[in-house]
Amino acid sequence: MARFEILDGWTAQAYKFALDPTPSQVRAFRSHAGGARKAHNTMLAAVKAVMNQRQAERTYGIADDELTPALGWSLAGLRKQWNVRKHEVAPWWDENSKEAYNSGLDALARGLDAWSKSRKGKRAGKTIGFPRFKTAKSRRSVRFTTGTIRVETDRHHVTLPRLGRIKTFESTRKLARRIEAGTARILSATVSEDSAGRWHVAFQVLVHRAVEVPGHIGAGEPVVGVDVGVKADALIVVAAPDGRELDRVPAPKSLTAAQARLRALQRRAARQRGPYDVATETKQKPSKRWIKQQRRIGRTHAHAAAVRRDVLHKATTELAQRHQVIAVETLNASGMRSAGGARKKGLNLALADAALAQIRRMLSYKTRWYGSVLVEADRSFPSSKTCSGCGRRKPNLTLADRTYVCEHCGLTIDRDRNAAINLARLGDTHRTGDTGTGTGSSPAATDSGGDGRGATQESATTRVVNAAGDEASTRHDNIVGQTGTVSSEGEAA
Ligand SMILES: [Zn+2]
Repeated sequence: MARFEILDGWTAQAYKFALDPTPSQVRAFRSHAGGARKAHNTMLAAVKAVMNQRQAERTYGIADDELTPALGWSLAGLRKQWNVRKHEVAPWWDENSKEAYNSGLDALARGLDAWSKSRKGKRAGKTIGFPRFKTAKSRRSVRFTTGTIRVETDRHHVTLPRLGRIKTFESTRKLARRIEAGTARILSATVSEDSAGRWHVAFQVLVHRAVEVPGHIGAGEPVVGVDVGVKADALIVVAAPDGRELDRVPAPKSLTAAQARLRALQRRAARQRGPYDVATETKQKPSKRWIKQQRRIGRTHAHAAAVRRDVLHKATTELAQRHQVIAVETLNASGMRSAGGARKKGLNLALADAALAQIRRMLSYKTRWYGSVLVEADRSFPSSKTCSGCGRRKPNLTLADRTYVCEHCGLTIDRDRNAAINLARLGDTHRTGDTGTGTGSSPAATDSGGDGRGATQESATTRVVNAAGDEASTRHDNIVGQTGTVSSEGEAA
């Protein structure tokens, strides 16, 4: 899909749903993803061959205009060449939708373009390598941009070209409602398999939003820090720069219950006859119980994800509406990974990391909608290890330390709250001058000097994110839908 123009009031967004396909649909998914891979690899080999040929010809001193003609790297060029070759290399091509091959070719065209721009220094960010062949282990995925792409009115099925009607594990109502109301238009649908073998569909959607009146003016604390925790009783802790704890969002009971159920289901599935015999290292026919169990696991996964998404949506909408500046960590508890040990702790930490990534994604577009500013602390910013009382650091803090006890000033404080305060102070350095700094009144802040407040490290440790890229003057004037970024979350509840 080429970059598209987005009109004022429209914004691009993605809605992802877990699928519950029949075995024959799974075969069709695999066949389509295989087709995408075949087209990608066939044309990558052709591009490489021509490049090598031209290089060899150059070494013989052949003039540039007499070299073997280069293969076009555009999607249209690659498609044309593929259509010439497909009868030979993939005589079964007719079994899949042409969109399958198109998604492989599109990925290749993008890869070649990124590599070429990166090599010429026209592309920001890290260096992009030459596209590689996709292997059987590459993630299976296929994208549909034309044909019948539909969310069914029963809220539990989607329809895709060639693949037909597919059941979903979760309700599609959030997207379906918008489509029925005429405030959403589907651009494309991508079906992909995750590392656990579950299939999902992600709809790229244009969503119409009325330009929001900033809801946060005078509504809440201007600057807050947000810590994403590992404990069930504190999924999110919100604090002000002056040290007050403003909010503490626990994980809902249904989420912890779903996670416990998931662990139990997976333990049971491990004892059943699966598709792979560990003893003889061969494939086998899985038992009916195992297949049934997998469906239960898929449903529970989808349920847990939906519950978590709802909680995070509610919390992030409130944050973006109520506060002008919101500071979050980039990576949770970086450098503390090895401190854990128990498997459950590892799982909790992984979930906290996933939750943090989700919160950042949601906040990045919601701050745009509501005209607030998101400040992302660099991963080197020691939000947990810095004392919010005196600003000194405790490098040996581990994940097990739920309470921060400072040996310098004697401050004893909840670990998550301490981190949230430090983040809030970092956020405070990104505030406009219109209302003053506002933090001088707190004893903690006045005692701290510059050290613990992050002010001295501002440019090195943060990234300010908003649509205009300038929080000083245009914070409230951002028009929704200026950017073409596709966020990967559902929409606000
Ligand atoms: Zn201290």
